[in-house]
Amino acid sequence: MSIKILDQSLITAPPDILDRLPVSIIIVAQDKFVYANPAAMLLMQAKKPADLLGHSINEFLHPLDQQRVLARVRRAERDQFTNPVSEYRIYTCQRELLVVGMMSTTYTINGTVGLLGAFMDMTERSALENRLRESEEHFQRMMNTMQDVFYRTDAAGITRYVCPAVKHVLGYEASEIIGKSAAEFYPNPADREHLKQTILAQGFVRDFPGQMRRKDGNIIDISISSTIILDEEGKYAGVEGIWRDITERRNLERELEHRAATDELTGISNRRTVLEQLNHAHKRFLRLHQSLIVFILDLDFFKRINDQFGHVAGDHLLKLFIMTVQQQIREIDLLGRLGGEEFVVILDDTPQDKATQIGQRILQVVRATAFDLGMDEPVHISVSIGATCALTTDHSLTTLLEHADKALYTAKEQGRDQLCWYCP
Ligand code: GH3
Ligand code: MG
Ligand code: MG
Repeated sequence: MSIKILDQSLITAPPDILDRLPVSIIIVAQDKFVYANPAAMLLMQAKKPADLLGHSINEFLHPLDQQRVLARVRRAERDQFTNPVSEYRIYTCQRELLVVGMMSTTYTINGTVGLLGAFMDMTERSALENRLRESEEHFQRMMNTMQDVFYRTDAAGITRYVCPAVKHVLGYEASEIIGKSAAEFYPNPADREHLKQTILAQGFVRDFPGQMRRKDGNIIDISISSTIILDEEGKYAGVEGIWRDITERRNLERELEHRAATDELTGISNRRTVLEQLNHAHKRFLRLHQSLIVFILDLDFFKRINDQFGHVAGDHLLKLFIMTVQQQIREIDLLGRLGGEEFVVILDDTPQDKATQIGQRILQVVRATAFDLGMDEPVHISVSIGATCALTTDHSLTTLLEHADKALYTAKEQGRDQLCWYCP
């Protein structure tokens, strides 16, 4: 195929080499095609030269790209100028939309200043780029809106990416975290090491518990789900995943745990908890043979208090009584409510004479206290204590409690307001 003639006045020596170029070449004069090489005819799906030659280039330009192309044509016509590669959407003769990458330069044909353009089909690459851009936009939108924090660290534990949502949770901008060691944000850096070791061992973690320190210094509870990243050689290259602020949930759980473990009236351990604590202490005793002493406390003539002042005043007195007892025991000692006006004190690793001292002090202080129940007169009460020292022959907790109960019975029998030890 040789040069296609539009206008006799534009005829010049055919640039034969252009016909052979594998890249698409067109020549434009007065905004009309005056030449298209075979590669251009093919790309433009022209069945015959007249499908292109003599037609305005505008017919083939996507409306959104017309301005841009025409500006470049004018520029090349005005100055001797080569337009760098740019991408345009064009229609072929069959009205198929393509994306082409075109560069063009001033070209004078028979005295008329025109434009010579070279272009290639970039549709596939462009579609790929669009998909890439779409998925990138999708990713950014997700990172900006999600409640969870997506992060990635390298093999050295340095944060390489954290999504902007981190600002809501930790108070830091992502840029304040990226480039820093992830461990810096853990109140206990050993936790981060534990997380890493677990991920290394099993390749991932799901709902792994942890804590982080906010910019304002507050500690938050988090739950981490992460996966190991391996490099091409299969070596550890870091970790990526998400973590979630679960502080509210953990606080609620802690509150529920606390409620389930404590006696509502007095705020001390309830029966279930104190018996569990006693069970642990007993097991430890059987293993280590450190002394273990148990007191059961029962208020004297408490029915009379209720009868005289009413149940509400009785409840109030139970609270005041517990506050009094708590001041007489050590922090390591455990106190719980067995039920009604019966309480248990567990003294771990305490010699018997020391335990007797503690018990006597409780009796003495309760006896001496004038409890103010908001009545005309303060109320005086006393308490009886049954004490027992765990023996290696006491294989069950029940035996231990029975012994303390027997001792309590003796204390009541002998006139109350006293401490009695269990005598086998
Ligand atoms: P004793 O010296 O023999 O122990 O005499 P007591 O009157 O204390 O007799 P007992 O220990 O058998 O009875 C306990 C009484 O304590 C029964 C009940 O009226 C009262 N009580 C038990 N639990 C509560 C409570 O939660 N609140 C109030 N206000 N009274 C309780
Ligand atoms: Mg009782
Ligand atoms: Mg009683």
